Amino acid sequence: MKTLKELVRKNIWSLAPYSSARNEYSGKVARVFLDANENPYNKPLNRYPDPLQTDLKAEISKIKGVAEENIFLGNGSDEAIDLVYRVFCEPGKDNVVAIEPTYGMYKVCADINDVEYRKVLLNDRYQFNADELLEACDDSTKVIWLCSPNNPTGNNLLREEIEKVLHNFHGIVVVDEAYSDFSAAKTFRSEIRQYPNMIVLNTLSKAWGCAAIRLGMAFASEEIIKIFNKVKYPYNVSLPTQQHALEAMKRKFEVEEWIRRLLDERTRLMQAVALLPICEKVYPSDANFFLVKVTDAQSIYNYLVEKGIIVRNRSRIELCNNCLRITVGTKSENTELLSALRQY
Ligand SMILES: *Cc1c(COP(=O)(O)O)cnc(C)c1O
Repeated sequence: MKTLKELVRKNIWSLAPYSSARNEYSGKVARVFLDANENPYNKPLNRYPDPLQTDLKAEISKIKGVAEENIFLGNGSDEAIDLVYRVFCEPGKDNVVAIEPTYGMYKVCADINDVEYRKVLLNDRYQFNADELLEACDDSTKVIWLCSPNNPTGNNLLREEIEKVLHNFHGIVVVDEAYSDFSAAKTFRSEIRQYPNMIVLNTLSKAWGCAAIRLGMAFASEEIIKIFNKVKYPYNVSLPTQQHALEAMKRKFEVEEWIRRLLDERTRLMQAVALLPICEKVYPSDANFFLVKVTDAQSIYNYLVEKGIIVRNRSRIELCNNCLRITVGTKSENTELLSALRQY
């Protein structure tokens, strides 16, 4: 691996971050806040939130088994994805390499930041080959994007291949584990000490049922987290979001129950879809959604929209010709989808 100093953009490495009013005092019990030009009325929303989300990180640390200094919290994982570009990639010069197909935001953020995005196609089993990915890299490749379980394909990537990339790439490897709560595979977040070049992404948007509050996590070395904290907006996670996330952390058992239920429903739904005449292939899934190849994705999609049922048409994505991506819903939602598909 190159040193972090070699990988981080020069202007970011030498950046003097904004020092917020709430950052400047510490250690004392503060009672009277006349430092941040806030309004003293309208509690508790009148106060700026904790810029480093200390209480929330303490809870996340316990649940995820990652030390607080290795946690970054953002406005969804999407903030962390954008930060990866802003921290590591020099616009118009550096490039990143990613598997294809995968989560669309990696490419969108590359385009926004004017960073070349190199795609390496998965094979017909939606797996990748580490050597192929590494061959696509050159000296200006700063980041490799991996997503496991992958979106939109639904499957876990092979662990040995991910490890091979981690061992052999000179830059940053992002492993997006947005769906890992649904998977039996061992997560990579417990291995951030072994891999100083790895950033693991998690989110409250999927298994935790909190997409509305916007809370994403990045786990990485303390050095990388410090740079992220320097570049992020000072108050990037709102007080209501921090409070709701803390509440969610207390309902861990409920989340586990949701996951069990969704996995049972996934099995039922996949088996039933496989029997439909419109179905050509159901792809294996390690997530709360699955990909299905059908006879005519566009017209089935349109038909379902007419019935008020929305699935994701992934037909125009490479290797996903005529594929619909179906998210597992409640039992009654899934039943409604199945009966609509039976009538098609
Ligand atoms: C849904 C999803 C996310 C979550 O993004 P948030 O901004 O945290 O809601 C991240 N990565 C992948 C691959 C996803 O599918």
